[in-house]
This record gives sequence, structure tokens and C-alpha cells, in this order.
Amino acid sequence: MASFNDALRGYAFHTIRADNFRCRYCGLDGTKRFEDWLSLSEEHLLPDGHPNRNNRDYIVCACRFCNGAANQYFKCAHERGLSLDGKTPEELIAQRLPFILATTSEYKAFWELRVKDHAVNATVPTGIDLAKLQQSFVLNVAKSTNHEQAANNAILAALQRSGTYASGNVDGAKFRKALASELNTRHDFYAQAISDAEHCATISQIADSLSMDFKGILKAGRLRIGIVQKALNLYLKTAWSLDPSRPDPPHCPIDRIVLQMAGIDGKWTELDSIETYQVWIERLRQRAADSGYPSLSVWELHLWS
Ligand SMILES: [Zn+2]
Repeated sequence: MASFNDALRGYAFHTIRADNFRCRYCGLDGTKRFEDWLSLSEEHLLPDGHPNRNNRDYIVCACRFCNGAANQYFKCAHERGLSLDGKTPEELIAQRLPFILATTSEYKAFWELRVKDHAVNATVPTGIDLAKLQQSFVLNVAKSTNHEQAANNAILAALQRSGTYASGNVDGAKFRKALASELNTRHDFYAQAISDAEHCATISQIADSLSMDFKGILKAGRLRIGIVQKALNLYLKTAWSLDPSRPDPPHCPIDRIVLQMAGIDGKWTELDSIETYQVWIERLRQRAADSGYPSLSVWELHLWS
């Protein structure tokens, strides 16, 4: 990929001007914002060693992302039997475009999960004493002094009126013990910041593993995603409140009030789709951000104070 140092020497500038200062793949327009122009580069449509590699007709304008997006493109094009010979520049661009778009959509998914609205230095809105809210939550709601206790109490709260058991006469002690152990073994894992994807994977794993082991006593043989998220998120909220040096939990416990606050029409106790859970989380996160909160967990902690 040619850098703009070359452009300043006059060569790439002409290539890029010939394409009207626009990326030939995504259309990024370098004439409106300086930052966009900085991102423009020369893109070779043909690989090293090809006789037309340095033919000016086969060098076009592309933004840095599109230029780098299909880095393995020439190698893959060969492996996939795509031909590069005897094609016009337009045909070569059209042939390459789907590979660039595929990379872009992977990046987009990553951005949605791990970057969007994840500013780490956001501050708590003025007037909120986070430490005080955490202390009060531990004392009055969670009533826990350590994380083992936090797990037991979070589980009781998640199971209350949730219709988790197959019938009213089920003895759930073993099941609750197994769920508590699932939570407690993850105490250290959550001592660092965890991505949405990792957290959702954890919720799914717990739901699937306990459903398998306790099918007989569970309603419809399933420990639903909605119940697991409530137990795990409440557990993490308590662990964080007990030890504020831990990172903010990735999400907050979702219950009726929280859903209502974001105008979401759904029952957390019946939820059993991790995709729907993620959609809810995005809407809740938006709700929290709109009100100026740095994270979902701070928003929810304040909501319940
Ligand atoms: Zn581009």
C-alpha cells in the first residue's frame, strides 16, 4: 500500500485525482473532510509480478481500509480460481468488491460489540455518588458480604416466581448448588473487562450445561437464558458493589422494571434466545447512554437506588 508520502511527491495525487478523490470500493469522498482525504491511497489492481502491475490504468484510488481489507486477496483469488488476466480495471474492481464488503461486515460486527459506546473514560453524571449507591445496594438489597453469599442470593432472586422448575414440589437444592458453582468459578474471569460476545457466550454455556444436567426438574427441560442472565448479572453487580475496584459488569440484570424503562415489550422470565437478549441489551445501553450514564451497570444501579 502506497503512503501519502508518495502523493506529496506528486505521483499518487494524480491517480487519486483521476478517481475524483473517491475510494473506488466504498465511495469514501476525500473532498469533504480532511481526515477522509488522509485515508486515501493508491491501490494496485494486479499482484506483484504481473506485467500490468505498474500500468497507471491499473492503479486506482482506495481508502486505507478497502486497500488493506483484502490483503490476502491476490492469494485467495488464485486459490478460488478467480482470473486476473485480460480484465479491465472496472472488471477487476467488481471482482474484488465482494471480498472487501465481507471484511467490512466482519469489522462492523466487531465494532458493534466491542467499540460502539464503550468509551472507558466516560464519567458518572454529576450528583451521583457511585460508592454510596454500591454500599447501599450491598447492605439493603444484596445483603451479602462475600461473593459466595452473593451467588446464593442472586440465584434466589432469579428463581423467585420465574417458573423455572417443572412443578411446585421439585427439590431444587442440588440444581441451585450447581448454578452457584457456575457463578463462583467465574469470579476471577470477570475481574477483567469482558466483551459482550464473551459474556453472552458465558450465559449460553451456563444455560445449556445446566439444562443438560437438570432437564428432569426444569420446566420444558430448559434453564432459560432469561433466568441465567438475571442470576449472573445480579451476581456480578453484587461482586462489583462489594469490590468497586472490579470493572463495571458488562451488563445489568434485566427484569420487568428495566425493560419497562427502555420501552421493551417482553418477559425476562420467558426469554430463551441469546439473540433477543443482545437486542434488549443494545436498546438498554442506548437508553443509559441517552441519559448520560457511562455504562449500563451504573445506570441500572442508580435506577434501583
Ligand atoms: Zn474504501
